[in-house]
Amino acid sequence: MRKSTVAIVGRPNVGKSTIFNRLVGERISIVEDVPGVTRDRIYAHAEWLAANFNLIDTGGIEMTDEPLLVKMRHQAEIAIDEADVIIFLVNGREGITAADEEVAKLLYKSKKPVVLAVNKIDNPEMREQLYEFYALGFGEPFPISGAHGLGLGDLLDEVVRQFPANKGQVEDEQIIHFSLIGRPNVGKSSLVNAILNEDRVIVSPIEGTTRDAVDSYVQLENNEFVIIDTAGMRKRGKVYETTEKYSVLRALKAIDRSDVVLVLLDAETGIREQDKKIAGYAHEAGRAIVIVVNKWDTVNTKEQTMKAFEEKVRVHFQFLDYAPIIFLSAKTKKRLHTLLPGIRLASENHAKRIATNVLNDVIMDALAMNPTPTIKGRRLKILYTTQVAVKPPVFAVFVNDPELMHFSYKRFLENRIREAFGFSGTPIKIVARKRS
Ligand code: GDP
Ligand code: GDP
Repeated sequence: MRKSTVAIVGRPNVGKSTIFNRLVGERISIVEDVPGVTRDRIYAHAEWLAANFNLIDTGGIEMTDEPLLVKMRHQAEIAIDEADVIIFLVNGREGITAADEEVAKLLYKSKKPVVLAVNKIDNPEMREQLYEFYALGFGEPFPISGAHGLGLGDLLDEVVRQFPANKGQVEDEQIIHFSLIGRPNVGKSSLVNAILNEDRVIVSPIEGTTRDAVDSYVQLENNEFVIIDTAGMRKRGKVYETTEKYSVLRALKAIDRSDVVLVLLDAETGIREQDKKIAGYAHEAGRAIVIVVNKWDTVNTKEQTMKAFEEKVRVHFQFLDYAPIIFLSAKTKKRLHTLLPGIRLASENHAKRIATNVLNDVIMDALAMNPTPTIKGRRLKILYTTQVAVKPPVFAVFVNDPELMHFSYKRFLENRIREAFGFSGTPIKIVARKRS
């Protein structure tokens, strides 16, 4: 389902990062033991009551060597391009400055909903300072204190109220949403164009919101697909679009909206460190993943070579051992026809549910094959297993003591489940739960 995105803008030192960290809480510093998976601190998930949304700190997108006003303008543009609702942050201790007015002008033109928050109102006596901010033209200013965590509830209530109203368009579960990620020049735009121009597919624009105009709808036989953020792959040439952090933000946002993520590699230049970092983002998000080795036309296409490349990929992307690899050329369109079916399969596996009785038969067989380990004289007992989630599939194994479920045994069960049910293309998760 489509999550709304909220961006925080405001000139330096008004408290954007402070508010960002407050709203995101501890979830911001998630670091996984996977190469390159440290989330940039500009984009995160946040929750307020029943609402889930993505939050962007535009101040974290560094534009080097730009004068303040230019920098501010770029940050406001990012907010306008990427957000459904904008939090415009000002400093209650300093009043309205020329930079605030500059940002206000841009936001005003954008027609996006803007919620004005006046930060550093650390105590009730300071509320008088609010009134001058009505002059910015965004209605009632919300007094907050990032430092003390005051007023954030009221602010978020208003932000959530401004989320695009349910447009009556129920998200069709049948449509497979996918995105393409990869470092610059791996061929993302070329591949999108190749898909859109392929004879066998029907391409039609998505009706409705302007926001959706960034996506493309494609139909192949009875399968419907949406390519996420097609527009983002066309080079639009804005200054900030070339910054590294912005492209990471863009990729994270596309990943969030996808069922399947294509991790593109370039056969011509080979595997680079940056590829692993990018793939790490997709893995971390729990999406289905297909590795696409593009520019295969540049390689000597003996079967050997493909196998050798696959081995290299497996060595470098051990954390993606579940992802199938598709070799193709966006330029010559060779093997392009294998792509959409491959995406469909990964998506089906990502959403697959296994009936509890069938699952337990497999687990019982596995136990017979490889008895549970004993740790410090105590044996792990598996009582039963059930699938508790899809996208990605999560299996809860009810045991006498979760501490006894060693990583290697978990891995063994995962492999058995994969062998029995074929979860190619999707991560799966096994969690041990205590059953009293
Ligand atoms: P940014 O540049 O807009 O991201 O601002 P920061 O979040 O880095 O904050 C700038 C400074 O303002 C820091 O020294 C913060 O500690 C301080 N600050 C942030 N929020 C508050 C607040 O609510 N009250 C007070 N007094 N100081 C704050
Ligand atoms: P992006 O930055 O990931 O969107 O990459 P582009 O689609 O702009 O492609 C970068 C360069 O690689 C362009 O010069 C393309 O023509 C070239 N390219 C893309 N796909 C292929 C391919 O399959 N084979 C060859 N030989 N070149 C390709």
